[in-house]
Amino acid sequence: MTSTGKLIVLTGPSGVGKGTLLQRLLHECPDLFLAVSATTRSPRAGEIDGKHYYFLTREQFQERIKQNQLLEWAEYAGNFYGTLHQPVSRAIEQGQKVILEIELAGARQIRAKAPNAFQIFVSPPSLADLEARIRGRGQDSEVAIARRLDQAKIELAAAHEFDFQLVNDDLDSALQTLKAKVLSL
Ligand code: 5GP
Repeated sequence: MTSTGKLIVLTGPSGVGKGTLLQRLLHECPDLFLAVSATTRSPRAGEIDGKHYYFLTREQFQERIKQNQLLEWAEYAGNFYGTLHQPVSRAIEQGQKVILEIELAGARQIRAKAPNAFQIFVSPPSLADLEARIRGRGQDSEVAIARRLDQAKIELAAAHEFDFQLVNDDLDSALQTLKAKVLSL
């Protein structure tokens, strides 16, 4: 009998610390498969093509949509983001737990296409805390920060749609809660 894996979606406003939580989770659980998304946004300092994202032009992204290569995709703060279908289905077939770190519209598409996926929402302790984290990151312009905060309010209002809600108030305890949940799936 072939074992099949599990699709896990992790959503939460930009700046909430999903990336750090995930890096730590993968470090502790190296069998998990984190899907590398495609995006049209420019790489931030230190981001590597093929590792953090596949950085594409809008034309290249649209070509992937046309060719049905994306499991889900969404426009977020003026850029396109999407999950490549093939590596995800291959890892699931091989019995792996696959994590998608995606925004709300993409999570909703996954919910419609893959109702068995387990959906986790990461919240900040407060909106003020989130703004401080986004500013502290020092990677975004004022316009980008304002867009991300507007989007965060929309995402926070949808937290109840998710199977599990995690408040990232303390990184270590949030990580242990996340790890226990993911390992239980
Ligand atoms: P950032 O630009 O900060 O890396 O990501 C912005 C938002 O896009 C984050 O909320 C992140 O979770 C989301 N995102 C990253 N990859 C994907 C993807 O493949 N699909 C969707 N729908 N959202 C994504």
